[in-house]
Amino acid sequence: MSIESAQPTIIVDLGKYKDNYLWMKREDLIPFSFGGNKARKAQLFFKEIDKSNYDCVVTYGSGSSNHCRVVANECSRRGMECYIISPQEASEQTFNSQMMELFGAEITTVPVSEVHDTIERKLAALRADGKKPYFIEGGGHGNIGTEAYVQCYREIQEQEKELGVHFDYLFFASGTGTTHAGLVCGQILAGDERKIVGISIARKNPRGRDVVLDSIRSYLGDRAVETEIQAKTIFIDDYTSGYGKQDYRVQETIDAVLKRNGIPLDATYTGKAFMGMTEYLTDIIEKNILFIHTGGTPLFFDTLRGRR
Ligand SMILES: *Cc1c(COP(=O)(O)O)cnc(C)c1O
Repeated sequence: MSIESAQPTIIVDLGKYKDNYLWMKREDLIPFSFGGNKARKAQLFFKEIDKSNYDCVVTYGSGSSNHCRVVANECSRRGMECYIISPQEASEQTFNSQMMELFGAEITTVPVSEVHDTIERKLAALRADGKKPYFIEGGGHGNIGTEAYVQCYREIQEQEKELGVHFDYLFFASGTGTTHAGLVCGQILAGDERKIVGISIARKNPRGRDVVLDSIRSYLGDRAVETEIQAKTIFIDDYTSGYGKQDYRVQETIDAVLKRNGIPLDATYTGKAFMGMTEYLTDIIEKNILFIHTGGTPLFFDTLRGRR
């Protein structure tokens, strides 16, 4: 099994939920390295790597980063060197950090203020050694990451035809904003109607939403119509209790979904998003709702163990 062999992820029908009808797109079941949106993005980054014969990868992220775990795993599968720059401030041991070590990634931990320069020095040192490093932004941010979720949007449209349903709302956890931007770009390019609601897991408005808007503008280029992208970008920042911090309501949400549906959510991303969606739906009835499960299963186990 490799990262290239991922198929469309299934959409499961979870039945009636809070006076609406709920489905879930299981990006967490992408069949490589515990899946998730970082696996979908990584597929496209590794296509670039193959196209231009890069021979090692440099990226960055915290000790709990799903992105770094997926990238390190794909590098280990290929026997390719992987260099991860990690901020000291978020370097506690987690299942993801343990796996990054297992995959043989070289992890350099520095204060967050030195991350940028450390990356530049690492890239320069590798080039001086005659290597051809490929750099991936943290979280798989950038137009390639956005493209991955434009493709996901098209996949959802195909699945709607098969299922005979139109989703009125999409909900998901929004972090660096690339997943969010890709879905909005997908909608704009397709010219169809529905509400796309990103639940912020860390950033506050207006900055959080501005980052999503910048990603949309960057991807669409000349095709961006400012009034349209403003109207279509809904970014909810009411559930940003702090990145990875425990919130008893998030824990209750995680427990309820696991007991009722047998589906793991985590405290940093999907648990917050699911809770945010539930509150958002308070005054909404009879709509078809799609929750996009963006992965992070190793974080579910960190939560279970009470570390985060
Ligand atoms: C990274 C991540 C997100 C956020 O995705 P962005 O594209 O960075 O906004 C959501 N859920 C999980 C599980 C993630 O790992």
